[in-house]
Amino acid sequence: MSSLGETKLFINSVLDLILPRFCCACKIKLSSDEDTMCKSCLSNIQKASKERLKREFDRKFLNNNIISDFFSPFVFEKDKELQLAIHSLKYENKFPVGIFLGKILANKIKTDRSDWNIDLIIPIPLHQLKKAERGYNQSFYIARGIGKILNITFSHRIVKRIKYTESQTTMTLNERAENISGAFRIRNKNSVKGKNILLVDDVITTGATISECGKILLEAGAKNIYAVSAAIAD
Ligand SMILES: [Zn+2]
Repeated sequence: MSSLGETKLFINSVLDLILPRFCCACKIKLSSDEDTMCKSCLSNIQKASKERLKREFDRKFLNNNIISDFFSPFVFEKDKELQLAIHSLKYENKFPVGIFLGKILANKIKTDRSDWNIDLIIPIPLHQLKKAERGYNQSFYIARGIGKILNITFSHRIVKRIKYTESQTTMTLNERAENISGAFRIRNKNSVKGKNILLVDDVITTGATISECGKILLEAGAKNIYAVSAAIAD
C-alpha cells in the first residue's frame, strides 16, 4: 500500500489507543501504519502475474468479444488471507475491506493499465432479494474505493439485476452463462452511450456474470467494457 499521510498516521495512533483496529484476515491488532489488513497477510496473498492474467483473459473473455481488457491483482485461494478478507466484507459488515481492496485495484490500474480510458465505474449489482438478505452489495464498496483513487464517477443505479440466480459454484461455464442470461437491465441507456465503462466484481471465476452485464451495456451503446475484480478464481 502507499504510505499513509502523517496526519492519518497520527490520528490512527490516537484512535488505536481508544479503539484498536484488527486485521480483516488474521484478526491481530493493526499497527498505526497499517490499514485494514496487516502487512504480513497482505504479503501472503498470491499475486496474479502478467502471464496468469493473459491466460485468464483468453480463457474467460477472448471468445465473447464483450470485455476489452481485464485486470485483477490477486489469485483467490481457499482458506487463505484473501478469502478471509472477502468473507468479512460479504458477511460481517466489514465495508472498509471493500474500499481497501478497491484502492489497491485503483493503484494497480494506474500503473498496469494506464492505457484504459475510463468514463464510468459500475459495480456488478446484486438482486434486491440477495441485497436485502446481506444488507449491501460488496462490489459497491470495491467500486467506491476505485472511484475515490481514480477520481472517476461511479454509479450503482444504472444497472439493475432483475433475475435471482442460485449459487453458481457447482455449474460449468455453459450452465453459468445460461443461468445468468437476462439477469440485468439498464435503467438509463443515455448515461452509458459512448462511454468506456469499468465493471467491478469481488471475485471473477468463469467471467459469465461480468460478460452478461457487459453485453447489455454494449447493447445500450457503451463503447468499451473493462473488467476488474479483487481476485481471480478457478
Ligand atoms: Zn493479518
